[in-house]
Amino acid sequence: MTISEEQLTHEALAAKVRPELVTEIPGPAVRAHVERDARVTSPSLPRAYPFAPRRGAGSVVEDLDGNIFIDLNAGIAVTSTGHSHPRVVEAIERQARDLLHYSASDFYLPIYADVCERLDEMAPFSGRARSFLTNSGTESVEAAIKLSRSTTGRQYVIAFFQSFHGRSMGSVTLTASKAKYRAHFGPMLPSVHHAIYGDFEYLDEVVFKRLVAPDEVAAIVVESWLGEGGYILPPEGWFAYLRELCDRHGILLVCDEVQSGMGRSGKMWAIEHEGVEPDIVVAGKGIASGLPLGAMIAREEHMSWETGAHGSTYGGSPLPCAAALATFDVIRDEDLLGNASRVGEGFLAGLRDVQSRHPLLREVRGKALWIGLGFADGDTAQAVEKAAFRKGLLMLTCGDDAIRISPPLVFREDQARASLEIFEEALVEVEAGG
Ligand code: PLP
Repeated sequence: MTISEEQLTHEALAAKVRPELVTEIPGPAVRAHVERDARVTSPSLPRAYPFAPRRGAGSVVEDLDGNIFIDLNAGIAVTSTGHSHPRVVEAIERQARDLLHYSASDFYLPIYADVCERLDEMAPFSGRARSFLTNSGTESVEAAIKLSRSTTGRQYVIAFFQSFHGRSMGSVTLTASKAKYRAHFGPMLPSVHHAIYGDFEYLDEVVFKRLVAPDEVAAIVVESWLGEGGYILPPEGWFAYLRELCDRHGILLVCDEVQSGMGRSGKMWAIEHEGVEPDIVVAGKGIASGLPLGAMIAREEHMSWETGAHGSTYGGSPLPCAAALATFDVIRDEDLLGNASRVGEGFLAGLRDVQSRHPLLREVRGKALWIGLGFADGDTAQAVEKAAFRKGLLMLTCGDDAIRISPPLVFREDQARASLEIFEEALVEVEAGG
């Protein structure tokens, strides 16, 4: 196959508007694969339904049986520029030929600084930013915990119920969306307390009054918008309240934008909608369109830790950095923030219209391509998720009773219209007891 034919194939796949199913779902190849996988992979992996992708383009993915799905997951909020965007792929290929690896911790890696310069330009706070690059969201959260403790000389960290910050020991201690993420792993990191997201009294009245003096608190770590906990937006004034509280007590405000960042909200960072500037931002997922990269971006004055205090062999290695630079360019050049806002608002309006005909769908919430759908309970949400899957629409449950919609930022209006039709068919099927 020539390069132009491959390119055509990618474009043809990306141009699809609706699912095209050629076997029952899951088909024979996927069923065989699921059996093979079950013998050798960790049973801890929380597979939602039997979907096994072979390739993807834009907002479309094809499974092992040649079935074509519309992807409202973006491989969970990761493939920001769409699956295998040609400019991202080209940047990775070029970088792979030049240099696969050199550790940026012990030596100078120019492309690492290139990414940090771009993050400095993009950071949602005034003044200069410095960044520490990692391989994942959870490592970026760990870096934020360590930096906050080290720069303030304080040990306590506050996080929130319903939040998700990752699964390594520090970040899983902050995570409080589901007890199963923490079960049997204790003891957790000491000196972490949880408060209620969106409650304007709990911090002062309970945490600071009864549990910990605020001048011993290094950081409040908060998801700008609650992701895994249900795709929930904060109440009006929540971040202004947290900012004021942090300023009053010399606490760092750390915004976890691993899921809400990189344009999904219609702005680069969801916190930009809230009119408040954090001290540290944690990024991951969509930052490199699918290659493993995370970032802990801090106001320059807080990056006060000593040489050797923190590092990583792979964090910010050349391929993910090349993918990130291409991702930033594509988001700018293709106006993907504008696209996320336009297509997302139309999609939200369409979902509210569907809701008016189907009381099973209790709530439609969100902004741009960050959309949460609320149901009466988790079983209903799962039934709708699975019915949609059987019709070729990929969505994922979250929280106690919700489905999240987080397609690539290149998601198109024609695909949104088709998705609404299929989603409504899934609702009808579940209403009928299917
Ligand atoms: N923070 C948030 C808000 C997340 O949604 C996630 C993952 O879903 C993480 C942190 C952890 O990221 P990772 O799975 O890359 O470690």
